[in-house]
Amino acid sequence: MSEIRHNALIGWQENAKLTSSGNKKLENKKISDIFGMNVFDMNTMKEYLTEGAYFSILAAKKQNKKIEIETAEMIAKGMKKWAIDLGATHYTHWFQPLTGGTAEKHDAFYKPSSSNTNGIENLTAAELIQREPDASSFPSGGLRSTDAARGYTVWDPTSPAFILEIESGKTLYIPSVFISYTGESLGYKAPLLKSIESLSQAATSVYHYFDESISSVIPTLGCEQEYFLIDAGLYEARPDLMLTGRTLFGRKSAKGQELDDHYFGVIPERVHNFMNDLEEESLKLGIPVLTRHNEVAPGQFEFAPMFEELNVANDHNMLVMDLMHKVARKHNLRVLMHEKPFHGLNGSGKHNNWSMATDTGINLLSAGNQPGNNLPFITYFVNIIKAVHDNADVLRASISGPGNDHRLGANEAPPAIISIFTGSVMEKLLADFEKMGLNPNAPEGNPKMELDIPKIPSAILDNTDRNRTSPFPFIGNRFEFRAAGSTQNCSLPMMTLNTMVADQLNSFKKSVDEKLSNGTPKEQAITQILQGYIKEAKSIIFNGDGYSDEWEKEAEKRGLSNVKTTPYALDAFITDEAQLLFERNNVLSSKELIARYNVLQEIYVNKISTEACMVKELALTHILPAAIDYQSQLLKLHKGYNELGLDKASTDIKTQIEEIHGHTHAIRNYIAQMDKAGDQMHGVKSVNDESKWLNDNVKPYFDKIREHADALEILVDDSNWKLPKYRELLFIK
Ligand code: ADP
Ligand code: MG
Repeated sequence: MSEIRHNALIGWQENAKLTSSGNKKLENKKISDIFGMNVFDMNTMKEYLTEGAYFSILAAKKQNKKIEIETAEMIAKGMKKWAIDLGATHYTHWFQPLTGGTAEKHDAFYKPSSSNTNGIENLTAAELIQREPDASSFPSGGLRSTDAARGYTVWDPTSPAFILEIESGKTLYIPSVFISYTGESLGYKAPLLKSIESLSQAATSVYHYFDESISSVIPTLGCEQEYFLIDAGLYEARPDLMLTGRTLFGRKSAKGQELDDHYFGVIPERVHNFMNDLEEESLKLGIPVLTRHNEVAPGQFEFAPMFEELNVANDHNMLVMDLMHKVARKHNLRVLMHEKPFHGLNGSGKHNNWSMATDTGINLLSAGNQPGNNLPFITYFVNIIKAVHDNADVLRASISGPGNDHRLGANEAPPAIISIFTGSVMEKLLADFEKMGLNPNAPEGNPKMELDIPKIPSAILDNTDRNRTSPFPFIGNRFEFRAAGSTQNCSLPMMTLNTMVADQLNSFKKSVDEKLSNGTPKEQAITQILQGYIKEAKSIIFNGDGYSDEWEKEAEKRGLSNVKTTPYALDAFITDEAQLLFERNNVLSSKELIARYNVLQEIYVNKISTEACMVKELALTHILPAAIDYQSQLLKLHKGYNELGLDKASTDIKTQIEEIHGHTHAIRNYIAQMDKAGDQMHGVKSVNDESKWLNDNVKPYFDKIREHADALEILVDDSNWKLPKYRELLFIK
């Protein structure tokens, strides 16, 4: 057996032993004792800030008031004292560039001082508010040229600062937006905040039809995060996992997920230790983790926090992804966040549970006891359906990426067709409303189910069932945007959704106001407009099996898009309508939108090029040598070769080798061509062509090569095979 695979296979037990004790720190503590202990939250602020500073930060959060520089000075002072009291030595603005990840540049609190030979620890208002990282290497999609490459990070006071601890020290993290010298957004957070503001304004003014007393609406988000965990040694023996995040080769093991025995099964102890540790770290950072379980595929798990305000929930999700990698390393495990690390097994998504709530605590998507007679609920419900119907392509674009291309349209993930699951109760409600308007005698939304089991109380049914096959199901009190990819920064899909819904609510308000000014009574005006929307938008509702072939055909008949790959799906971002949509709602200028498009195309090109090089390298240096080696063993060792029928085995191997050789040759040619074309294709426009070209001409070879390589995996002696196999990656824990 190859040395690397062999070592990985005997090493895992040691790896597991080293971390099997897990984390016992929580032993005698309650979660409430540690929750938020490393967060500069409102409670801590009360202690460390003057009353004036405390109330101005509260006003920034609740009423969108800007913080004055004098107040910032006091906040900086309090924040510094708190951080240093807890042992932090450094601080950093923490921001979300268009790479999709997070970024940080640390500075020491310590400064040499003329008045004190030992120096002092300080954080000024200017440092709290704004930093200028030399961030010229982040992708900007053409927003910055190298001669005007300044980028600034600016403090976001609506997401609390926190302290991240590692064994050797602590650092204060200050959530920030990232903008250019000319004020354009270079990251994901600023447009997300703008979209939240637009949605909040639109949803609030619509709510005033029903209740004047609320002063704001905020979107809420609960992100369920799916992921795989594998042993670190086995991971390191797979160059494809290390460099591309997914297995480019690997035959399905004899047993996979068919028995469904992993889903919600007993959590393996080593993983359980990892989860406990991860949760403790998350809780200290104020991330309200509540749920953990095994997912469908062997080696796959899920983690879900309680929902929060969207901006904070998204920051928390970014933070959690980072923590997961850090904590996994402590357990000699590796987290695979890729949307499809294993061919033929379920992929990972990030289910974005999204709703809106008033400042008085009302969930706008809570259907209540009698949904058919609940006009505020129906108003938001129908407007969202209309928004998704009218902007399905933009929503689809917001979840595209090379990883998610393996999920969307594959047979165990939501299809690339955007549709909405409402459940049969809500479907009937919409049909009734379209015909008759509100129904004071509407049935109760949550019927009781009498269970004929002794001593077991009757169960209350939800007003929707579940549908795992829908990309955008309604779940009784929220929508669950399930089609987002597991690696994604959810800012992009959430910003897109917020903007679409804000835009829709604004146009709804305009139409209703028009009717009101013509003297139509309010309830009648609202009902009539909503009835029109249902008529126009109901083709987006689909309550059947989204994975079935029939749905693809049916969707085509209904005129719904089904764009399966990223380079083409992204084009929906640069249509005139999309540019107007984001501009009109003050979320992104067309320049900023096109920049994002360019960056996403560029990321696609870079990821597929990396995969192309890796496919070629593994085929030539791992797969073919193992096969050729074994074939020559066969030829050498066995006398009477023909009589034993071994010539057949040898011929099979030979055929696969030739196929692989032919296809890698094609990839090599394409890579060479691409390099040559790249030189001529300067400027951002070319990235767009390049991504489509790679998608159409290079990527198809990955599967062709894989098919033959995976066939070799069961022709070649196990001891010759160099790459850890699926059964090893997935079942060793
Ligand atoms: P399931 O896997 O059954 O869909 P989970 O409990 O794993 O459910 O996750 C559901 C997620 O939905 C949680 O993060 C939860 O906090 C979130 N959620 C519940 N209500 C809302 C809401 N009103 N707005 C946003 N998210 C919500
Ligand atoms: Mg869910």
